[in-house]
Amino acid sequence: MPSAPAAKNAKKPASKPASKGTQHAHGGGNGELLKHPLFDELGFPSDPNNLYRQTVSSMLTAADMMNLPHHLKIILAQPKNEIMVNFPVKMDDGEYRLFKGYRVQHNNALGPYKGGLRFHHDVHLDDVKSLAFLMTMKCSLVGVPYGGGKGGIKVDPYKHSKGEMERIVRRFTAAIAHQIGPDYDIPAPDVGSNSQHMAWIADTYSFLSEVGGRQPEAVITGKPIEYGGSVGREKATGQGVVDTLTEMLPEIGIDIKGCKFSVLGFGNVGSWTARILQDRGAKLIAVMDHTGGILNDGGIDAHSLAAHVSKAGGVANFKGAGRIDKEEFYETKVDVFVPAALEQMITEVEAKIVNCKVVAEGANAPTTPAGERVLESRGIEVLPAILCNAGGVTVSYFEWVQNKTCHQWELDRVDSELNKHMILAAKKVRDARKKYKCGLRTAAYIAALERLQAAYAIRGLFP
Ligand code: NAD
Repeated sequence: MPSAPAAKNAKKPASKPASKGTQHAHGGGNGELLKHPLFDELGFPSDPNNLYRQTVSSMLTAADMMNLPHHLKIILAQPKNEIMVNFPVKMDDGEYRLFKGYRVQHNNALGPYKGGLRFHHDVHLDDVKSLAFLMTMKCSLVGVPYGGGKGGIKVDPYKHSKGEMERIVRRFTAAIAHQIGPDYDIPAPDVGSNSQHMAWIADTYSFLSEVGGRQPEAVITGKPIEYGGSVGREKATGQGVVDTLTEMLPEIGIDIKGCKFSVLGFGNVGSWTARILQDRGAKLIAVMDHTGGILNDGGIDAHSLAAHVSKAGGVANFKGAGRIDKEEFYETKVDVFVPAALEQMITEVEAKIVNCKVVAEGANAPTTPAGERVLESRGIEVLPAILCNAGGVTVSYFEWVQNKTCHQWELDRVDSELNKHMILAAKKVRDARKKYKCGLRTAAYIAALERLQAAYAIRGLFP
């Protein structure tokens, strides 16, 4: 483990730990109301910091640029189904508590709805709608036969015993069992949920689905390997971030070998991105999560840090680095900065102080539109989330294929198939950028919308 240098500003205390989960503390915005005629037509919320309005506005920029027909814009600007359930669960002390759960099915023009389940005390319908919308765009871009969905439970999974969580997860599954299915809507893990939760969902669903139904476990991905999971799924999103960087960095003039990077959030996406990037020769300099920030100019060993986080619950008190505060974290000079925590964390404020050449979005929607404009004005390239973090859903698709064909793939096959999808998606984004002379996010949406437009053109609209 590298010795911790006197971190350049180690005198300041780490910033107060923020709560783990959906970020609404600073509202994620700058008070500017993004305008588009469709927002009034469809009655969008007029809160300028509303995540759903922000997310859809990026898509509409692309849709306008490519002259997407009006009917496709309105279809894609709203989810098909918004399901909310309230369900009672018995706690360990014998009392009952009522929980709220969500499943939003955004679009299924390309295949079954697909997307994770977030377990967090501050999950809101508009967050879930945004994330479901992003899944439609991501699945289209990365070339898997899925639409987009997302769900969640308003619960803090860290405040419940294992037994309580099992009852909550199983009761939620029962509440939505008739609205999901291996050929209709296939959930997966997201922030706060893990492979054990997925196993309970698959098991509960198998009891509630038709007797003799085929492969009930294919109703969900991100399962443990012992119960239908795929090798390589756990690291898949981080692997996809690294595959994207490998494709996109050369034309920005950065060599992965020797490049310096920082990571915001050291959970599944952040820690795997860091470990794989380090194994490719890059150097991790700074990390921040809900427990604080750490810095080591000489390099932080990502593998040792991952082991520390799995024991300690966060990066704080890691012996191989000094402590820094939030501003120092963002100001740390790196080549690549990977936000891999939550939505709306890179606002104008953070965008003005980040000291990097490239932002690789590991998290969904981490950059607000105002933050993005600042990054653009400073010449910082943003690799958009629907490209960068598409590795997770791609390997989820492989897991589903393995379940459906009763076959298990080797890790080499998973990694190389994933790499093919990521390379193709990156190429589509680069081509769209060249054709429309736009930023990478708009280019990624254009590439995603082109596939959806082609599918709608062939399918038509019922009736
Ligand atoms: P996770 O729960 O494993 O990790 C979340 C991380 O965010 C933790 O390290 C936590 O400490 C950190 N965090 C929370 N609040 C913070 C704060 N206020 N300041 C700094 N750090 C904070 O979640 P994950 O699965 O790694 O997902 C992270 C993001 O990536 C989410 O946006 C998720 O939707 C997205 N994503 C995940 C996957 C996947 O396969 N897991 C796939 C695609 C996208």
